[in-house]
Amino acid sequence: MKRDAIGRRVEFREALAGWFAGCGKDYPWRRTRDAYAVLVSEVMLQQTQIATVLGKGYFGRFLAMFPEVAALAAADDERLLKAWEGLGYYRRARMLRETARAVIARHGGIFPQEPDELLELPGIGRYTAGALRAFAFDLPGTVVDGNVARVLARLMNFSGPVDDTKGQRQLWTWAETLEDKLHPRVYNSAVMELGQTLCRPGVPACGTCPVAAFCRAKSPERLPVKRQHTVITAVDEHALWLHDGCGRVLMHCEDGTRRTGLWKLPTRAAAEISHLPVVAELRYAITRFRVRLRVHDGGLEGLPLAQGETWLEPAAVAHLPMPSPFRKVVGKLFENLTNQM
Ligand code: SF4
Repeated sequence: MKRDAIGRRVEFREALAGWFAGCGKDYPWRRTRDAYAVLVSEVMLQQTQIATVLGKGYFGRFLAMFPEVAALAAADDERLLKAWEGLGYYRRARMLRETARAVIARHGGIFPQEPDELLELPGIGRYTAGALRAFAFDLPGTVVDGNVARVLARLMNFSGPVDDTKGQRQLWTWAETLEDKLHPRVYNSAVMELGQTLCRPGVPACGTCPVAAFCRAKSPERLPVKRQHTVITAVDEHALWLHDGCGRVLMHCEDGTRRTGLWKLPTRAAAEISHLPVVAELRYAITRFRVRLRVHDGGLEGLPLAQGETWLEPAAVAHLPMPSPFRKVVGKLFENLTNQM
């Protein structure tokens, strides 16, 4: 029986590093050694695809607005959320600012390198601490994200769930053992890249894999195994498009929800407004919900305003931080309004 990657880890690392030297992608966060920039990239990439973060320019724009940790620490809610608009999961932006504030308050604006000090910062868990150590400081730091978990599960032919406590413990143990402590930046980048490219979800490209000789997967397309999937719930969201005849529209600022500080069209219960004509409809997914957003034309009849609702000019609306689905329908509705004038 061939020895696995753990038993031949020195050769495994060499094969992986050799492949990465020729095929590794040149992402901007791989060019920097600035812990702050690395942190921004890691937080953005936690729930957003690389193509979105890079292709739509989020990473560069965010760093242009907040070029250093002190600038982010001083950011107000509106600027911060506007910079994050379109990335979703806005809690990440606020937590990133909390981390920046703690780095300023506790470490004079310089990111610490020790694992314990990193883990004491708000928003920094095991994965992010490992990523900062490896990618910013080139110090030993283990990372297990979805890509790494898939590669490890296949390499070791692990058929248990990778997302329960036992599976996670096993993956982190393998990751720590396999990691090249002399070249952590290259090693961790290479494993992630392997998971993003050849050892991708579904059917992997084993024929061109640089570490196929160490891989024990019998049916790699069936790995990794996950616990039972979350049940997806379909919901309808009913919003109002109310304009006052002078071009102003009624907007609502969220408070006390996960979207606190973000603006959107006012929403109402279906029973209140579902009889009104629908002027826009959009479907989007968020966490375990599939949402059908229906925007009803309230015309000028003026329903009673709820707390947080304000009449705003289009120019002001353009500068407000807004969740992507609402940004899309509002843009379309303003366009229609202009065409009607
Ligand atoms: S041989 Fe195939 S399954 Fe194994 S690590 Fe390479 S790409 Fe993944």
